[in-house]
Amino acid sequence: MIQKRSTPQVHIETFGCQMNESDSELVRSMLKGEGFTFTTDRERADVLLVNTCAIRENAHNKIYAHLSELKGLKKQRPLVVGVLGCMAQSLKSELAEKEPLIDVLAGPDAYRQLPVLLSNAMAAQEEGFSRKGFALDLSEYETYEGVLPDRDNGVNAWITVMRGCDNFCSFCVVPYTRGRERSRDPEAILAEARDAAARGFTQITLLGQNVNSYRHGGWDFAELIAAVADTEGILRVRFTSPHPKDFPTSLIDAIAAHPNICKHIHLPLQSGSDRILTLMDRTYSGEEYLALVNRIRHTIPDIILTTDIICGFCSETEEDFLSTQRIVEQARLDSAYIFKYSERKNTIAARKYSDDVPDQVKGSRVARLVDIQRRITLERHRQYIGKDLEILIEGDATRSSAQGMGKTDGNVTVVWDKGTDPFEPGTLITKHIYEASAATLYGK
Ligand code: SF4
Repeated sequence: MIQKRSTPQVHIETFGCQMNESDSELVRSMLKGEGFTFTTDRERADVLLVNTCAIRENAHNKIYAHLSELKGLKKQRPLVVGVLGCMAQSLKSELAEKEPLIDVLAGPDAYRQLPVLLSNAMAAQEEGFSRKGFALDLSEYETYEGVLPDRDNGVNAWITVMRGCDNFCSFCVVPYTRGRERSRDPEAILAEARDAAARGFTQITLLGQNVNSYRHGGWDFAELIAAVADTEGILRVRFTSPHPKDFPTSLIDAIAAHPNICKHIHLPLQSGSDRILTLMDRTYSGEEYLALVNRIRHTIPDIILTTDIICGFCSETEEDFLSTQRIVEQARLDSAYIFKYSERKNTIAARKYSDDVPDQVKGSRVARLVDIQRRITLERHRQYIGKDLEILIEGDATRSSAQGMGKTDGNVTVVWDKGTDPFEPGTLITKHIYEASAATLYGK
């Protein structure tokens, strides 16, 4: 056991994607194993950890603003501040120099070192000096095997099945912040799924930066998801995020064949222009993307498809943008996350191309595409009116505890008046849909 302040209390805040949520659960597990305790009250914490995201500039800005807030707290009492995650990994010394309040920086592959780094920082602080600790090496092997995530009670258990990414899409910082692809042992994943089911989770979401390129021994992602779906007690299995290049027929068939694998695929398009897709190194054309959409819909007619799109990538012309618009209109996907291109340091795009589309043009393209997609989403949602849908209850609706909130199999949010119905998060309930907006379905 590591020497440290008696039962130091840690507060962790997580920004960014589900991988970060899942990593924070691993961090909690490792620190608890070394005698740290956790508090949800930031004011009582001896250690503040911020798990960060580097995917876009506004994520960075949000975290910088958050760190400024922590400066005030550190002036009031002894406090060790640790910055974890992708931003720690990508900005390294720049972040440490710019932010003297940071005691510990740890990248996504270095969390096993956190107990020692935090203990050293606390011990130094008790003796009246500062000892910074950095752990930023990327690993080709680290999958945190043997660490069982410390999950909050709830409905959904995230299970990371692979880490890192080898795709090097030119706009993306992930291969530099999370390193090369490595997949976990399927037996360990299945054991984790059984453990989650035994602890009352009824939904599992398999996570990976490039989840469908999972490969371990003779196993591929189709076999893995089918085996996870067979876990007793698991009502729903989801996965995110896949790459369109890794969709063999076996995977589509596995999704079709298992009633408890949700009929929802998040299929990032990024652009509909072949020229831009080539600059992005996405390895498919707009037509190939549409062909994949059709292939999936042919096998699974009720599939819900969602996507990510970047507007204003380097050199994107109005014509390129119109190609994206055309694909969006043709594919009629169920919803889309649409962003302005945000240059990330050290990526291939930052080194090779110029971020030359004016911000205002990027913004107006996002707004135009959002309008189109919102119309399509609303039309698709209106098709549910008059139908009975099975919903996995997640909890109270944000607006009122008199209303319940849950998700359809296709991951669409449904809200309903609880009334006297049985209401148990994690169980399935059927609701009759009577109204729909682009964001929510309303059931009774
Ligand atoms: S597939 Fe491309 S966008 Fe996704 S994490 Fe890998 S490099 Fe980034």
